Amino acid sequence: MGGTDGIKGVGIYQTGQLQQVLHRHSFRFKKQLGQNFLTNSEVLDALVAAANLTQNSGAFEIGPGAGVVTWRLAQTAHRVLAVEKDATLEPVLRETLAGFQNVEVRFADVLKQDLAALWETFSDCADVSVIANLPYYVTTPILFHLLDAKVSYHTAVVMVQKEVADRLTAAPGGKEYGALSVTVQYRARVEKVLQVCRGAFTPAPNVDSTLVRLRPHPVPPVTVTNEEVFFALVRAAFGTRRKTVLNSLALGMGVDKLGVARALNAACIEPKRRGETLSIAEFATLSNIWESQLNGNG
Ligand code: SAM
Repeated sequence: MGGTDGIKGVGIYQTGQLQQVLHRHSFRFKKQLGQNFLTNSEVLDALVAAANLTQNSGAFEIGPGAGVVTWRLAQTAHRVLAVEKDATLEPVLRETLAGFQNVEVRFADVLKQDLAALWETFSDCADVSVIANLPYYVTTPILFHLLDAKVSYHTAVVMVQKEVADRLTAAPGGKEYGALSVTVQYRARVEKVLQVCRGAFTPAPNVDSTLVRLRPHPVPPVTVTNEEVFFALVRAAFGTRRKTVLNSLALGMGVDKLGVARALNAACIEPKRRGETLSIAEFATLSNIWESQLNGNG
């Protein structure tokens, strides 16, 4: 990506500048792709600062859009790889990122990408961070795709809908706490960095946003002997929210209630509790007991 004329693209933070570039290339926003481009320089500063990039870092960006964030990453990091689904942004990005030799943009659906293979791009980087002003229609699948990929990353800084940030950081017992909270918190330390109002984007979305930072745990915060069982239990427990954990697990795991009750009892979990009151540590204990009792090992 980028020309060789030595002039390094344009940093576009303002709505007017952005509109001009987009107009030159007859670009039309696609609502169905969650296209709300960042046009607030303070939020942009916070997003890039939260990633703690160095001159040796790799930056993986999901959905570069018109390159507002990418341009900043290109100046800060050693290497930038961005994956954008909308190929009509190609001429726009060619202009905004012109002259940068350390940026590559691939036009593809990030959900269909083998991230481990993409990570080879960063073989000469000290570490890799993920940066994304995420398309909101597909936030959860993208987060799961990233967390499930066997790739190591230093930090992930993502802009998400405020409600999603609440779910990512939720503690047991509240209505925001769910499978997403447990899965993400099992994998990473999650923190809210900044509340962002809708006026920071062009066009403005219908929701407020929050900048969230994820830092992967060097080792998981709880010991789980079989992650497949752990995640299956988490999904089952939250599958039917109004039922007791006994009923949810029996239904979701396809196991008779007696077996479920035995495992719950061994894990010191009252069967009448709701799944959403279980902590990550309780899910881990239950999963380890389940693995040994119900898989015939105990
Ligand atoms: N990063 C830019 C910014 O902050 O101005 C654009 C962010 S916009 C919220 C989300 C971007 O993700 C859009 O450019 C959209 O086309 C792209 N996108 C949507 N779905 C995608 C997918 N499945 N894979 C890759 N990019 C996607």
